[in-house]
Amino acid sequence: MKKYLMTPGPTPVPEEIRNEMAKPMIHHRTKEYQAIFNDATEGLKKIFKTSGDVFTFTASGTGAMEASIVNCLSAGDKIIVVRGGKFGERFGDIAKAFGVEVIGVDVEWGDAPKPEVIGDLLKKHPDVKGVYTTLCETSTATVYDIKAIGEIVRKTNALFVVDVISGLGADKFENDAWGVDIAVCGSQKGLMIPPGLSFCSVSQKAWKAVEESKLPKFYFSFKKYKKAYLNTDTPFTSAITLVIGLKKAVETINAEGIDKVIARHENMAEAFRESCKAMGLTIFSRRPSSAVTGVNAPAGINADDIIKLLKTEFGVTFAGGQDDLKGKIFRGAHMGGIDREHTVESMKALEKALVKLGYKFSVGKGVETAEKMLK
Ligand SMILES: *Cc1c(COP(=O)(O)O)cnc(C)c1O
Repeated sequence: MKKYLMTPGPTPVPEEIRNEMAKPMIHHRTKEYQAIFNDATEGLKKIFKTSGDVFTFTASGTGAMEASIVNCLSAGDKIIVVRGGKFGERFGDIAKAFGVEVIGVDVEWGDAPKPEVIGDLLKKHPDVKGVYTTLCETSTATVYDIKAIGEIVRKTNALFVVDVISGLGADKFENDAWGVDIAVCGSQKGLMIPPGLSFCSVSQKAWKAVEESKLPKFYFSFKKYKKAYLNTDTPFTSAITLVIGLKKAVETINAEGIDKVIARHENMAEAFRESCKAMGLTIFSRRPSSAVTGVNAPAGINADDIIKLLKTEFGVTFAGGQDDLKGKIFRGAHMGGIDREHTVESMKALEKALVKLGYKFSVGKGVETAEKMLK
């Protein structure tokens, strides 16, 4: 049985990238590796759409989230954190762990924050040091209006920090044009490589905050990474294998062009949503992302039963809902190496699973819709 990994991280790693990573080990303090590392970083900058710095850490995405806090803030500082799902909440939890005061913008799960609410808070608290939010809140499959929030934050002294871990490469994102000071990303989602690397872009405005920051930091110190990068180097042993994969992945993405890659993922996400709707299902999010879709389980059926059946009988792995959404929604991703075939095959499997679970709908309509809409 052919397997289809449809989870919002990790995502399938294409064969040509796996082959690169299977090559014999090389040493990192060599010209050969420096060229690879440089190409990977320059390629990433194109995907982020930034001319500023982008640093690579050996850590999952959360490591880069922590880096964006410890490098720019001091204990007792105040930040605004949008909490509309698990990952927004995580930003708040990390900040609190370091003694940073969090002004939460609590958004109902499945909804996106209203930019003007953030604007009003910034007026009320002019001493806020940063606004921390998310491009795609993966837990609710919701994309936020980062461009509109950026318009507001860029006029203040606050930094604009955005977690693009799941959104990059699927949802539109423009680091510099949207006034983002730090974008935080991870390797195992849109970038199509295994988990283990994370990234931070750092703007000039962010560098000023770095100079003032007093929070303790060592492994994730931007200054250490900058100093090393000026010699095309990393301060600690690089995750060589993953960086070799990264170089290949960013070459693949940039050869197609990031705008085309995003358009392709938008098409897959739309086809997935319309296919589910043609089965009579409803979409959870009010502002659906193109990286991942959350689908409400039909009345009387537990979403986790659908997921289990899909995995055991059809080889399709979806993700479940988190926290309060457990058993209520299932999530299918569109990012990275997930392609047309994944989308069609997962819809075929979903129809079969729903039939088995006794759900009544016009069988075949979902697959037909997906096939018609997919480019
Ligand atoms: C996956 C994800 C994370 C967490 O990344 P890890 O690699 O698990 O540390 C954080 N934020 C978002 C939006 C994510 O999708």
